[in-house]
Amino acid sequence: MRQQFVAGNWKMNGSLAGNAALLAEVMAGAAQARCEVAVCVPFPYLAQAQQLLQGSKIAFGAQDCSVHLSGAHTGEVAVGMLQEFGCRYVIVGHSERRADHHESDEQVAEKAQRVIEAGMTPIVCVGETLEERESGQTDAVVLRQLRAVTQRLGEQTSRIVLAYEPVWAIGTGRTATPEQAQAVHAVLRDHLKTLGEAAGGVQILYGGSVKPDNAQVLFAQKDIDGGLIGGASLKAADFLAIIAATR
Ligand code: PEP
Repeated sequence: MRQQFVAGNWKMNGSLAGNAALLAEVMAGAAQARCEVAVCVPFPYLAQAQQLLQGSKIAFGAQDCSVHLSGAHTGEVAVGMLQEFGCRYVIVGHSERRADHHESDEQVAEKAQRVIEAGMTPIVCVGETLEERESGQTDAVVLRQLRAVTQRLGEQTSRIVLAYEPVWAIGTGRTATPEQAQAVHAVLRDHLKTLGEAAGGVQILYGGSVKPDNAQVLFAQKDIDGGLIGGASLKAADFLAIIAATR
């Protein structure tokens, strides 16, 4: 049985004082959580997360990384640096990065590889736009995005966490129905299974306007192994209620 996992994606939010208060509440409330829990914070707050979360059940990670290992790449952050700060996870291929920074499927796959090589776990995001869904391309789009990763990683695919995040559901308050989400998760799972038993057991998270009132029914779906949570991860009460909704 796959363990469920709830990861917060703080995006470009936070402040030293606000983070300290949020993490204290999350640590207290999630101490007995039955699922895995992590928060992916902006780069400048990694040191704070490392310090405050030490010895707790809450893991932490980053929201992106460079494909380069070091050198003349102004503004980029290398996986070695993230690893040095104790990150366990790195989100790669979030739709906001694919859209705002024109990241290709191949670049996302390369980032996933760098993260694994540095001993961390990539949370690989895939998802279709509304236009792609409405024109019947959902499965083709998410499989194209996933195949770029699986072709590069081969049997190392078992070391990723996958997140299905329909672009039209992110930050919009519009959630995929449990049936819509489960259908895509099943397609992703089928592809992973073709790579062997270990890859078939990869955790697949759902992301896109998960809130306390819809989390339980989403997490009850057969192939949904938890959530990647944006807005609701910024409020301790909401994040804890979502954690409590795992099975
Ligand atoms: C996300 O940014 O990964 C996300 C799922 O955001 P939200 O929960 O706010 O839709």
